[in-house]
Amino acid sequence: MAVAPQGVDFARAVRGERITSVERRGKYAVLCLSSGRRLVTSLRMTGRLVVLRPGEPPFPYTYVELTFADRSRLAFADVRQFGRMRLVEPGEPWDAALGPEPLDGDFTPDRFIGMLSGRPTPVKVFLLDQRRLAGIGNIYACEALWNAGIRPGKPAGSLSKPAIRRLHAALVDVLNRAVELRGSTVDDYVDADGIKGGFQNVLSVYGRAGKPCLRCGARIVRTVIAQRGTWWCRTCQK
Ligand SMILES: [Zn+2]
Repeated sequence: MAVAPQGVDFARAVRGERITSVERRGKYAVLCLSSGRRLVTSLRMTGRLVVLRPGEPPFPYTYVELTFADRSRLAFADVRQFGRMRLVEPGEPWDAALGPEPLDGDFTPDRFIGMLSGRPTPVKVFLLDQRRLAGIGNIYACEALWNAGIRPGKPAGSLSKPAIRRLHAALVDVLNRAVELRGSTVDDYVDADGIKGGFQNVLSVYGRAGKPCLRCGARIVRTVIAQRGTWWCRTCQK
């Protein structure tokens, strides 16, 4: 767990602030503060934001605890300590290295075609690269590629325009459904209210090695692409 700026500076810096809204950018939760500053939070593998009622005992493995005027608290906890919380000044381009949001209106199929053009990298590696597109994790990349019928190792630049349009639609659909179902709990993710996600219950291909493909009946295989487990169907993903 890393907090920036550290220690006393951090505590002093956020004193008297009000959280005006909570947004998402890529894999980051962004707590917008009344001063225009932001608390940019990355949960990584096991991080949690937990809302605690007044008088509730501290949450285990809490590294940051914000206390509100009504004595309720927001805890940022992380057993494995990979999470990050950073205070960002107004106008600071903290997300300059992040690619566009797949759910934004300006991420059009034509723009996606332009982004993939000429790129020799495997399409799955491209999808996971947060500098190209923001917010797509391993589960969503596997699911979108299966939905679109595209082989994960296929060079991004070799996809046909119809295939890219199918992939674009699949990404938007998978991410929209995941947001609607409050994310995916494969290990231990829960949201700020302690509620598990629901998307893990509707997975088509992720984690289904050896089981029949829901589209063609062939066995789902697991291979490794860029050090990440990759589940796909050799028969209907071309
Ligand atoms: Zn299949």
